[in-house]
Amino acid sequence: MRTTFAAAAALALLVTATLVGQAPPTTVAFTNVTVIPMDRERALADHTVVVRGDRIVALGPSREVQVPAESTRVDGRGKFLMPGMAEMHAHIPGGNATEADMHRTLALFAANGITTIRGMLGEPRHLPLRAAVAKGDVVGPTIYTSGVSFSGNTAKSADVAVKMVQEQKAAGYDLLKVHPGVPRDVFDAMAAEANRLRITFSGHVPADVGLERALTAKFRSIDHIDGYFEYAVKPGAPVDVKNPGFFGANFAAHLDPARMAKAVADTKRAGVWIVPTQGLLETFMSMATAEELSKGPGVEYMPPQMVAAWAKQRQSFMSQPGFNAQNNERFLQERRRLLKALHDAGVDIILGSDAVQTFSVPGFSIVNEMGAMARSGMTPYQVYVTGSRNVARFFNRDSDVGTVAVGKIADLVLVDADPLARVDNFARQTGTMLRGRWYPRADLLAKVRTMQ
Ligand SMILES: [Zn+2]
Repeated sequence: MRTTFAAAAALALLVTATLVGQAPPTTVAFTNVTVIPMDRERALADHTVVVRGDRIVALGPSREVQVPAESTRVDGRGKFLMPGMAEMHAHIPGGNATEADMHRTLALFAANGITTIRGMLGEPRHLPLRAAVAKGDVVGPTIYTSGVSFSGNTAKSADVAVKMVQEQKAAGYDLLKVHPGVPRDVFDAMAAEANRLRITFSGHVPADVGLERALTAKFRSIDHIDGYFEYAVKPGAPVDVKNPGFFGANFAAHLDPARMAKAVADTKRAGVWIVPTQGLLETFMSMATAEELSKGPGVEYMPPQMVAAWAKQRQSFMSQPGFNAQNNERFLQERRRLLKALHDAGVDIILGSDAVQTFSVPGFSIVNEMGAMARSGMTPYQVYVTGSRNVARFFNRDSDVGTVAVGKIADLVLVDADPLARVDNFARQTGTMLRGRWYPRADLLAKVRTMQ
């Protein structure tokens, strides 16, 4: 039995190795590297980390750690080894997407230090994809995935919603995704069945459900900080409550500080997690034109027809009534304030940037998200907690992932400049280790170029 397993693992390694064109190492040593373990805010200079199979087996000062002779050595001098990050609001391509589209997306995440993703636009093809990645047949971060989302179009009645919950639970999806448009009675039926079958639900707060009900129903995570401005709008404010605009943008000048504070406190009390996707909203509400955004980081790796579609969406988004620098900045300032207040209140925040999405390129967009969190007042260390340790807690996997420590799964990223100094430095990477397999960034990006 043991032999069979070992043989299968070796075969998987070989298949993976073929994909990136290098020999399959069984032991990898990062030597003379500064380790940022993320157990607390500290950096361990001149350390050596040894990985065997998928686990970290040694970690200590370089003069004390013996590097096994058979190891592949990765020179860490001047570099920083830290846990890989998570993209907790990923969109794995589906629908008409080709296998190449899916594989390219996963490789782009991996090439940018992302070692875990939570797919929030699931479909049946993502289940075998999750398994193929876990086996090592496809290069990519560990996948958690929702099923087809619950929206006004899919969950048309309580009966349909209950059936969807049962089918998605039986199919083996990790969570349910909630989109706008779900009526309150349908939502209540979905939530009750989800609780009964012990499957969590996350995503948007439908208008008919509202933030209060979302919190008592215990969304596992509310994504995009959806529903907060709608909840906090001043009673009697001169706004059309039926027309909140983009994530409540029409209400940004009419928020009641007391209601905002209550929303924050109630979120903490409910134990609901938040995926801000603040960077995505900053991009949408910036004054950057389609042409400018088309030159953004990583866009060159996306198919030209997709970038053209993004440019069209951008143009129509910018031509909406009320879209101007002053309104948008007001909205973003209120969002930053809210994110900071949630964080200060001890609400659990997890990192997500909503990629693939308009001008949100897998992996590259996580640095944009990190910058947005930093502009909201979080320190670089606090930002990385949301992408590592918090994610481990979110999935109840603290003992396996989330920090750099002996015994943990080796999901790591080797960064070229001190990430604790500033979050932009996270973009400068040598490579990613996925469950013990080392992928130089240049190799992954070269591979992506062939996946058109
Ligand atoms: Zn989404």
